[in-house]
Amino acid sequence: MPAPASRAAAAPPREEQRVLAEFLAQHGLKRSAQREAILDAFLKAGSHVSVEDLLRIVKRREPGVGRTTIYRTLKLFQEAGLASELLFGGEARFEPLWNRDHHDHFVCVLCGEIIEFRSPEIERLQDEIAGGLGFTIEGHRHTIFGRCRKCLLKAPRAARPR
Ligand SMILES: [Zn+2]
Ligand SMILES: [Zn+2]
Repeated sequence: MPAPASRAAAAPPREEQRVLAEFLAQHGLKRSAQREAILDAFLKAGSHVSVEDLLRIVKRREPGVGRTTIYRTLKLFQEAGLASELLFGGEARFEPLWNRDHHDHFVCVLCGEIIEFRSPEIERLQDEIAGGLGFTIEGHRHTIFGRCRKCLLKAPRAARPR
């Protein structure tokens, strides 16, 4: 999947740094070069990174960093509203949340490919249904599992759905 043009790469993501600094201060936690490096790598990595993906990237700058630190820091970003954890059944993945527009996911059960989609129509419909039930939506996740185009083409012809 081609990486979406990243605004984060052009300019330092100041706002996220500020949000993190405020969150750390509120919780009596220290700012550290390591946390900053993890945040920077996370924002530049784009969407849907696993702990392993991020570990590989951060290790180039912070060789002493370990898997547990990456995971805990991502959970911290999640608490601070900077990251969203995606639970697709396998390995946990994270994506930046701050100032990103809402989207949902298709997940290929064969190769793990993740495809984002946005549908104002689905969003409107669920608001309507919730309204009818007197339900206030605070958030939602749509994850649709199936087979991506590539995996479908690799499958023997007979196995392909029509
Ligand atoms: Zn696939
Ligand atoms: Zn996504």
